[in-house]
Amino acid sequence: MAQVKLENVTKQYEDVTAVDDMNLEIKDGEFVTFVGPSGCGKSTTMETIAGLTIPTDGGVYIGNENVTRKPPKDRGISMVFQNIALFPHMDVYDNISFGLRLRKYDQEEIDQRVENAADVVQLEGMMDRMPEEMSGGQRQRVAIARAIVRNPRVFLMDEPLANLDAELRVHMRTQLQRLHRELDTTIIYVTHDQAQAMTMSDRIAVINSGELMQVDPPLTCYNEPNNLFVAGFIGSPSMNFVEGQITNSGFESEYMDLPFDPETQGVEPGQDVTLGIRPEDVYLEPTRNQAGTPSKTYDMVVDVLEPMGDEVFVFLLAERGIETSADEMGAGQLLMSVEPDADVQANQDKQIVIDRDRVHLFDSETEQAITHGLK
Ligand code: ADP
Repeated sequence: MAQVKLENVTKQYEDVTAVDDMNLEIKDGEFVTFVGPSGCGKSTTMETIAGLTIPTDGGVYIGNENVTRKPPKDRGISMVFQNIALFPHMDVYDNISFGLRLRKYDQEEIDQRVENAADVVQLEGMMDRMPEEMSGGQRQRVAIARAIVRNPRVFLMDEPLANLDAELRVHMRTQLQRLHRELDTTIIYVTHDQAQAMTMSDRIAVINSGELMQVDPPLTCYNEPNNLFVAGFIGSPSMNFVEGQITNSGFESEYMDLPFDPETQGVEPGQDVTLGIRPEDVYLEPTRNQAGTPSKTYDMVVDVLEPMGDEVFVFLLAERGIETSADEMGAGQLLMSVEPDADVQANQDKQIVIDRDRVHLFDSETEQAITHGLK
């Protein structure tokens, strides 16, 4: 077990800054996930910790030791990657114990460690299987067991579940949480999938264009996103964004306004702001009492319904015939999530309210959050 620290880490490739002056402290035994869109620098950051990449600038510390220039084998880390590389001609036992045998551990110690690791990832009774006789999930568990037997100070996992089908991925998410609980080892996990980040981590580090956007527990990132990027990236479906302006009487935009006292919210008339509304904070008017402090009522038209089973996503339009963009909510288009039995059908006129206690305001220029929930 060990803490990990990145101090002003930068990695420059020709004209690309893959990691931009990153500062991060990961506590001993913590499960931290790097999350962000493809190409944002997650893997490169991880590689500087693993020793597969030397930063252009800054330092990497594992357990207070500066390891910036140490080779991977001297860092006390174990890695698991997306592409599982098991030895095809070796059975499970030999695959898991390979590194220990190479380092000439005695047989009793090897047996003990393999047994413990197999137990943690639930591979007991499969020691004689060959990789080709196993499912993707089982092979990934062998790869994880092989990493466990080395008793690493830090576990590094780069998209280890990316190649598994959806059902197995959900199952492995639970397994990895158990693994973390049982091993109590520092785990750094890389994924572009915000669902994996939300469900497993103590804290998530949201990265965009090589820069850390926010490092906080998952629910803090969800409920109190620092900026527009985090607000839009965390949560599925995404937050609705309505761009508008502050007037003397509150927020105003082409299709939606929201009355409040600007001074109380820390904004000024004339300021360009973006109103953020999560789909679950929009309510059909008859269910108004469920919304914390409802705002005014808005007349909208139901465009399309997407029943998900446990909830229904309802795409609303401010007026019939508004031009909408497929991936951007707001500006006359609002996504709401309602109970499956809600009385709502396509093309109906509906009145909705939004929960004032849960809307977000962002400065449109700086993209930074101003307030979470109107005061
Ligand atoms: P992610 O893991 O978030 O998908 P990466 O860390 O792999 O992102 O990449 C971050 C950026 O650095 C990307 O723009 C990528 O093209 C660039 N990059 C990564 N590795 C190299 C390399 N070896 N040479 C040049 N550019 C690279």
